Amino acid sequence: MASIFSRIVAGEIPCYRIAENNDFLAFLDINPLAKGHALVIPKKETDYIFNIEDEELAAMMVFAKKVGLAIEKTIPCKRIGVTVIGLEVPHAHIHLIPINSIFDMDFSKTKLALSPEELEEIRSKIVANL
Ligand code: AMP
Repeated sequence: MASIFSRIVAGEIPCYRIAENNDFLAFLDINPLAKGHALVIPKKETDYIFNIEDEELAAMMVFAKKVGLAIEKTIPCKRIGVTVIGLEVPHAHIHLIPINSIFDMDFSKTKLALSPEELEEIRSKIVANL
């Protein structure tokens, strides 16, 4: 069965899309740790990030860098934390999270409950900074 992220790629499930090219897609995490928390995924479904071919993985990080810099311009923060967990959704993804301290990367924290309007506003501001 296709992963939830493949269903987003296929357009079957909506997302707050930030950027895409032929190979990768970036969109807001719907249960974010911080405003601007985004995910970067390969369009081709692969569960474990280290099973992605070297060249594609390098390109994925370059794509994530572009998105991360746009998030940094949009959301006041010290920097963008970059992490990979992958225990919940079996489709490789890089988390990009605006952070001010190490605690902002704590995935056991209660997630923010943002309204669709707030998510859309954040999304459009990030897109404007790409
Ligand atoms: P993990 O696999 O542990 O890295 O966590 C998966 C992440 O994907 C979590 O932060 C979820 O909030 C996020 N997530 C799950 N479903 C969606 C979705 N439909 N749209 C955006 N983010 C999602």
